[in-house]
Amino acid sequence: MSTISLRKLTKRFGSFVAVREVDLEVAAGEVVCLLGPSGCGKTTTLRMIAGLERASAGDVVIGGRRMNALKPERRNVAMVFQFYALYPALTVAENIAFPLSAEPIDATERRQRLTRVSQILHLDAVLDRLPAQISEGERQRVAVARAIVRDPNCFLFDEPLSRLDIELRQTMRSQIKEVLSGLSKATVIVTHDQLEALTMADRIAVMRDGVIEQLGTPHEVFARPDNVFVAGFIGTPQMNLIEADFMRVENGCAVLAVGGRETRLAVNDAVARLDASKVTIGIRPRAFMPIDQAAPDTLTAVAELIEPMGAETLVHARGETGQDIRVVLPRERRLSVGETLHLQCDPRQTHVFAASGKAVRS
Ligand code: ATP
Repeated sequence: MSTISLRKLTKRFGSFVAVREVDLEVAAGEVVCLLGPSGCGKTTTLRMIAGLERASAGDVVIGGRRMNALKPERRNVAMVFQFYALYPALTVAENIAFPLSAEPIDATERRQRLTRVSQILHLDAVLDRLPAQISEGERQRVAVARAIVRDPNCFLFDEPLSRLDIELRQTMRSQIKEVLSGLSKATVIVTHDQLEALTMADRIAVMRDGVIEQLGTPHEVFARPDNVFVAGFIGTPQMNLIEADFMRVENGCAVLAVGGRETRLAVNDAVARLDASKVTIGIRPRAFMPIDQAAPDTLTAVAELIEPMGAETLVHARGETGQDIRVVLPRERRLSVGETLHLQCDPRQTHVFAASGKAVRS
């Protein structure tokens, strides 16, 4: 069975801890993306799974077998790198079949495997060409074909699409996802591109400073972030994170002091359990509902910069206490710089984070 288990996996470089006690289970057929800012430990984690980096502590278990002491070539994992190097003097077919040269299989089986993967990746028509005679997208597909031709235990991708242009990336995202979904292998993809993670992953592990901050489906990490970091990291434009003092709950609304001014916001019931304390209110730019007049549960902000984004408009507005508030409105909602917005928020989409940074939920 193709599974990957990481148990308290840790990597130290001298006194610096790059990956700290990471636990992760990837099921057969599942795609998990490691997503996080530069230096958070994604690649180091992937390299430890592949055996390219030795774990300082903890275990890498693939297909139920502890791999810590095994060299990369004994782990039977397929790794696709950002900088895939194809052999320029070999044809596409020879490049794809190259990893099979070390396998104890006959010429017929070799041909069958080559035919199967070249069909899966739509490379049949270019098998006789050299890498220089095919497109960038085809080269990327050859790299994937070469990785899957061996029937490995699992797949590891390191920023596989970062070299491609935006349009090609989109196509390749869905193509790779389609290929992976037919193979029933545990797959880990490292990326710092959240769109890539949101579209390709079954689950996303959001990392920071060597730790998994949240592991969940793309919808979970987007709609129910566990903490302020995940809330701010996932989603474009970024979630508004407004610092406030929570005072009390009154008529179903939280009474908050934002920059010293009292504001009421409809929030989830769990907030009632908070003692008066500092909180961070998280509201996505698309979760605001502008209404015509100020009400006890509205935030007031003045539009300062208006950015058309096609079907929507991104408005940078200044709140009453000086905070920057990003609001996304449908393009039809006409707006001018200097106009005052009265913003209501759906309580189901208003996140509250305690002083510790953790989400407060019912
Ligand atoms: P990026 O998106 O920039 O590739 P990453 O999340 O993949 O970042 P890693 O490459 O895993 O991050 O690095 C994690 C941390 O470990 C970084 O601070 C990095 O500088 C450090 N690091 C990585 N390799 C070594 C090494 N061989 N020696 C010392 N420190 C290292």
